[in-house]
Amino acid sequence: MADVRCVRCQEEREGLTMPPFRSELGARIEREICQVCWSEWLRHQTQLINHYRLDVREASTREFLLKNLRAYLFGETPPDT
Ligand SMILES: [Zn+2]
Repeated sequence: MADVRCVRCQEEREGLTMPPFRSELGARIEREICQVCWSEWLRHQTQLINHYRLDVREASTREFLLKNLRAYLFGETPPDT
């Protein structure tokens, strides 16, 4: 498995085995984010879902989580907050 130079932790570490989503963002995560940071995000995501009692079937929830993902992994500030 290829190592990635992770943009979040700046370490050279094992990357993901496959993109987590079928999208441009998914491909970017596979290219730029290591497994360690990805698992940290998944844990963080679970906390968000529990904390805000989110319904993951809602489109608004998916949007909210994607925005948080970008902020968490890439340091991007959500545009509308
Ligand atoms: Zn990392």
